[in-house]
Amino acid sequence: MIRFEDVSVWYDGAAEPAVEGVDFEVPEGELTLLVGPSGVGKSTVLGAVSGLVPHFTGGTLRGRVTVAGRDTRTHKPRELADVVGTVGQDPLSHFVTDTVEDELAYGMESLGLAPAVMRRRVEETLDLLGLADLRNRPITTLSGGQQQRVAIGSVLTPHPKALVLDEPTSALDPAAAEEVLAVLQRLVHDLGTTVLLAEHRLERVVQYADRVVLLPGPGARPVIGAPAEVMAL
Ligand code: ADP
Ligand code: ADP
Repeated sequence: MIRFEDVSVWYDGAAEPAVEGVDFEVPEGELTLLVGPSGVGKSTVLGAVSGLVPHFTGGTLRGRVTVAGRDTRTHKPRELADVVGTVGQDPLSHFVTDTVEDELAYGMESLGLAPAVMRRRVEETLDLLGLADLRNRPITTLSGGQQQRVAIGSVLTPHPKALVLDEPTSALDPAAAEEVLAVLQRLVHDLGTTVLLAEHRLERVVQYADRVVLLPGPGARPVIGAPAEVMAL
């Protein structure tokens, strides 16, 4: 579903590539964790999936990244909304509207869907994420966990095949983190969405993972395996 073919990324002015020769595949309909020490290139890898790298970060990408067959270098993030949704650490930086309902609708605006379809997708997503009671609330009045669920909802309404999330629970307490992770697991199991989630606190997320991709560091190839296999390394 998500495929990296010999991908290297250089940021402008950097002496070394941020990632080099990365080759791996994320299978469809699974929750895959992307792990590795800070600075190893996890955010860069996710950015290459969502099109943020190189379109919004600058830099140069060599090799090929595809999501559902679409090349992320030749499409801007907005043009990838129906294949991949992107959620970061800080939900507040994600939002462009005031209320929960408006935010869920906003993500679909460039898709040219009929208003009735958009309304139905908003309803379906409110239910899926347990946000129906909060629909008219200003987003700034919600808890961190609720905000992160709204951020996920806003990228789900275009019905993407894949979601990439960069440490989505890092600002959350353990209970709120669990809520968010349970939502992701439901998306994978009930809708067949492919999830790639970067996290450095492995113990918090590993129980939710089907597979782990470990970025070991400069020059080393990613190691891919079942959680127990990779944890044993
Ligand atoms: P991780 O997410 O694993 O912490 P990153 O992908 O954020 O790793 O960073 C990988 C390397 O690229 C680091 O050396 C980092 O300093 C550098 N880097 C990340 N983003 C940028 C950027 N926008 N411009 C320049 N260098 C960057
Ligand atoms: P439309 O495609 O016209 O919006 P629906 O809203 O009824 O039609 O959804 C079509 C199907 O997509 C439903 O079977 C629903 O379960 C499924 N679906 C719901 N949410 C998602 C999602 N996030 N990604 C993919 N499919 C989804």
